[in-house]
Amino acid sequence: MKRSIFWFRKDLRLYDNPPLLRAVAESESVLLLYIATPDIYRTNPYGFKCTGNFRAKFLQESIDELSSLIAIKGGELTIRNGRPETIIPELCAIHDIDKVYFASEPGVWEKHTEDRLLEALAHINVAVHTEDSCTLTDLTKLPFNISELPHVFTDFRLAVEHLPVPSCTPAPEYFLSCIRNTSGIRIKSEQLKVSANALHRSKFNRFAGGEWQGLKRMKQYLSPDGPALSYYDTRNNLWGTDTASRLSPWLAAGCISARTVYHEILRLESIAGGNKSTYWLRYELLWRDFFRLNMEKHGYKMFIESGIKGTKRTFKNDTKLLHLWINGQTEEPLVNACMNELRHTGYLSNRGRQIVASYLINDMGVNWLMGAAWFESQLTDYDVSSNYGNWAYLAGVGNDPRKNRYFSIARQTEQYDADGTYRELWRSRTSSHVLQSTIGN
Ligand SMILES: Cc1cc2nc3c(=O)[nH]c(=O)nc-3n(C[C@H](O)[C@H](O)[C@H](O)COP(=O)(O)OP(=O)(O)OC[C@H]3O[C@@H](n4cnc5c(N)ncnc54)[C@H](O)[C@@H]3O)c2cc1C
Repeated sequence: MKRSIFWFRKDLRLYDNPPLLRAVAESESVLLLYIATPDIYRTNPYGFKCTGNFRAKFLQESIDELSSLIAIKGGELTIRNGRPETIIPELCAIHDIDKVYFASEPGVWEKHTEDRLLEALAHINVAVHTEDSCTLTDLTKLPFNISELPHVFTDFRLAVEHLPVPSCTPAPEYFLSCIRNTSGIRIKSEQLKVSANALHRSKFNRFAGGEWQGLKRMKQYLSPDGPALSYYDTRNNLWGTDTASRLSPWLAAGCISARTVYHEILRLESIAGGNKSTYWLRYELLWRDFFRLNMEKHGYKMFIESGIKGTKRTFKNDTKLLHLWINGQTEEPLVNACMNELRHTGYLSNRGRQIVASYLINDMGVNWLMGAAWFESQLTDYDVSSNYGNWAYLAGVGNDPRKNRYFSIARQTEQYDADGTYRELWRSRTSSHVLQSTIGN
């Protein structure tokens, strides 16, 4: 039997975490590890913190909760600060580790980290088990290689939709043989350097991080008489707690898995009957898989102006325009309301995201990468594949089969905020309406 390390990344959960369960089953003792990697503290080329306050706070809460859940089961979460390719080999040497387990991630920075780690571990003869445990689709059953991933979502969906979604794996029962990292420096989660304190008491802050919080929200949204049954009709609304699942922050941090949500939808369908809404929720989860695999296929091209198509389109790198957009000071009240909501809550509905992205790209003519970088900093649910995939799509340099997807602000206003409620709600930061109407979990 082996001594192992399980490295938690964007899978901050115990339930339905197949590589974790495997590590526990195959090992005599396991060191459970989270590393606050440098990408958490980086500043992007436009001067924004890569992990802004909303996500920092959510991450801190998620790690704290994971730590508590592990402690309840008799184990301990070791938290370190730094580069995985340095820290993990060091811990392997200290604790005489034979094997390291972790979930693979599609992001370019994450892949480089994995490559450097694999190289370092090969040097010291430590074995590795890695798998992508975050998709809905069973990737071992994909009817194509990643390099042949269809360019258009519908073709992808038709190819995978019929595949059985694997059942969820149980959480490990106990961590009694957990390796406690007494000989290394143990950094507590309060030392993660996340500048989240100011947000803890904020009325604008909607999401509480952690596996239990995510499961609670999922159960509430997918309850038999719950709002999920009318998702298809409400999903495009600009505001409202229950107009969509609002599960994205927990899915992005891996506090819950897409498969857990999928099987809960099936459970709801077995009790209340399936309808267009329950199907559509499963459909949206496939978009997440699509962008994840797309990132894996195209890598760095997802971060360049001409995107995966190599489209020649001239964008302005105009920081003055960018800041008017960020601060909700454009000529369009609807765009301003959306940007105010995003700035003050770390969240924006899908419709709102499409409206403001189209406005920045098409009406202001600003480089889409600047908008994507602001979203990266600001969104609680930031996910590298979904964010850059959706931005590139709207900028006409990604997977959209149409050349140009333009959202007319006049039409969007008429369709989604004809009576002006949303614009009034987010007219300005200090609006008393905002305080009274902020939605929360
Ligand atoms: C410009 C832009 C940037 C975006 N950036 C992100 C991001 O960083 N992280 C992120 O999770 N989503 C992103 N999205 C997708 C989408 O807006 C959010 O997933 C959704 O608004 C989250 O709210 P929800 O959980 O209520 O979604 P629901 O409508 O309830 O959908 C359920 C789940 O399906 C997935 N999903 C739904 N729509 C999409 C989509 N278009 N692409 C990928 N997955 C989807 C999400 O995991 C979501 O939680 C972006 C969309 C746009 C237009």
